[in-house]
Amino acid sequence: MKHDNLEDRDAEGSARIDSRELIWRYEETRNTVAEIAARHGREPGDVRIIAVSKYQPTAALKILAGHGHLDFGENYIQEALRKQGELALPELHWHYLGRLQRNKAKFVPGSFTMFHALDDELLASSLQKRSKTRGSVLEVLVQVNLGQEIQKGGVLPDQLPELAEKIRRMDGLALRGLMALPPFSLELPEKQRLFSELRDLRDKLQSQIGLALPELSMGTTDDFPQAIAEGATMVRIGTRIFGERPR
Ligand SMILES: *Cc1c(COP(=O)(O)O)cnc(C)c1O
Repeated sequence: MKHDNLEDRDAEGSARIDSRELIWRYEETRNTVAEIAARHGREPGDVRIIAVSKYQPTAALKILAGHGHLDFGENYIQEALRKQGELALPELHWHYLGRLQRNKAKFVPGSFTMFHALDDELLASSLQKRSKTRGSVLEVLVQVNLGQEIQKGGVLPDQLPELAEKIRRMDGLALRGLMALPPFSLELPEKQRLFSELRDLRDKLQSQIGLALPELSMGTTDDFPQAIAEGATMVRIGTRIFGERPR
């Protein structure tokens, strides 16, 4: 059973965790993010770190939570719900980063603060229905595919205004900004150009639909400095904090 495998991996994982090293890596990442933010005339608090914890054992999340970190990003719904149950810390903010089948939309509202990779109207409307029934509000970001054919997720820039307009009319969803994940294979200057393109799209969209869109979720371990330079408000960092993902 899949679930049992995850449990096993978790048990092994927790035996291996060196909490001093994990906290050191986390602090080092925080300092680097703050330094880069400052270099670009931004306050450290303007850039939030989402600790991307997919495949990482719950024990590792617990150590960071105990150290005061609140924002965690997960890509798989069952794994995320299991960790939420194991940790039982209501103060945490959970970010859903992955793709999601529409029939699993019901698990998101109430369990996650923000959904980062919305690119489909039907999924949006499933999320909205559940959110409304629960009386909760789910913050969402629209994922944009910046014209890179090898990238799978995201709407094309010219489809963005129409989808954004539909989402903003959905009660139960709060449209907060845009998200992008450039292909890993690109060189850093090329990635930076795409981040800058995402910011421009956000600026344009704000005036097109007359809604403030403060959040730009962009940048990972490999390219967060370039993302911060271009205005990222959330960087999604996994490997740099936790080390290589156990597989
Ligand atoms: C896994 C993942 C990340 C984190 O990547 P790292 O290279 O480990 O920092 C960020 N964003 C998304 C959408 C991811 O799936």
